[in-house]
Amino acid sequence: MLELNGAEGGGQLLRTALTLSICTGTPFRMTGIRTGRPKPGLMRQHLTAVEAAAAISGAEVRGANPGSLQLEFVPGPVRAGDYRFPIGTAGSTTLVLQTVLPALLRANSPSTLHLEGGTHNPMAPSVDFLTRAFIPVLRKMGAHVELKLERYGFYPAGGGSLRVDIAPGTLVPITLADRGALKSVKAQALISAVPGTVADRELAVVAQRLGLGSEALEHRSIRPAVGPGNVLMITIESENVSEVITSFGARGVTSEAVAERACSAARAYIDQGVVVGEHLADQILLPMALAGGGSFRTSRPSEHFCSNVSLISRFVPIDITVNGHPIGSFIGNRIDSNTSGWTVELK
Ligand code: ATP
Repeated sequence: MLELNGAEGGGQLLRTALTLSICTGTPFRMTGIRTGRPKPGLMRQHLTAVEAAAAISGAEVRGANPGSLQLEFVPGPVRAGDYRFPIGTAGSTTLVLQTVLPALLRANSPSTLHLEGGTHNPMAPSVDFLTRAFIPVLRKMGAHVELKLERYGFYPAGGGSLRVDIAPGTLVPITLADRGALKSVKAQALISAVPGTVADRELAVVAQRLGLGSEALEHRSIRPAVGPGNVLMITIESENVSEVITSFGARGVTSEAVAERACSAARAYIDQGVVVGEHLADQILLPMALAGGGSFRTSRPSEHFCSNVSLISRFVPIDITVNGHPIGSFIGNRIDSNTSGWTVELK
């Protein structure tokens, strides 16, 4: 049984461990789960990820209770099937999906997942990020995944739903060294049960800051409304990869500030010639490790990235280097802003 220290990260560390455990058939015990977080231990959305991983692998689980700081997880063989995972709160559907997707891609027959909860949550990939940025990278690696957004769900009301069809196949290593020519930059402002002027004001800032014409701007009002919500997304499509930058409206934050935040991130991505953005970088490590290799260029590896690298090497015999160096020597230098980018290699 692998002994893992959950205090070295947050919910991400637990989900990565669950995914690697069911994919490799390796049992683990994690202690100190999310001890550094304001509400430590397992929360509802983490428990749903545990339940989902257990359901598809027939795992024996100990410690899966709200607030638990320790979890033991002993997986069985992965079983394809038709699964429904209601999160019960606005907990992120996309994070639960990412927990089980790699294993179902390796199962011996197709699966369908129905997930209910939040579809556009702060601190998680939005459904649009998955469909435009993450899943296209998986498809380049040979995966067959179709995701359908059936109903939007915003934090805190939740209530969204997704259907995901997954056909098994073998993932192959890919290289994302160059993003290719810029094809388009588009912005969408989604609103639900908030005034339409919120979206108009956000899009006005985006038009001005990024020089976009009206054909690149979409004001979308979700009907029937699904609880209050506002999300601004800027999608930057290049020949080889797409990036989705997401900024959430919140009480006390002006629409202009929401838009400024997204525009600054979009400008930085475009001007610095980044290939794989910060979030996509930590998310594609795991499928690449399961594919047995791959490489990509990214901006500045995040804490999530570093903790994922450390955990992956506990489950999978793969070397992960950043600019030719193992992750340990890289961690101390990761704030170096003079670098023009980082090359991540898995082999
Ligand atoms: P917790 O704080 O609950 O303990 P954590 O901080 O370790 O958890 P999570 O917040 O659970 O980690 O996971 C974050 C995941 O969501 C990461 O994979 C991160 O890349 C992704 N993510 C966060 N924000 C975005 C975003 N705007 N776009 C795409 N992905 C995002």
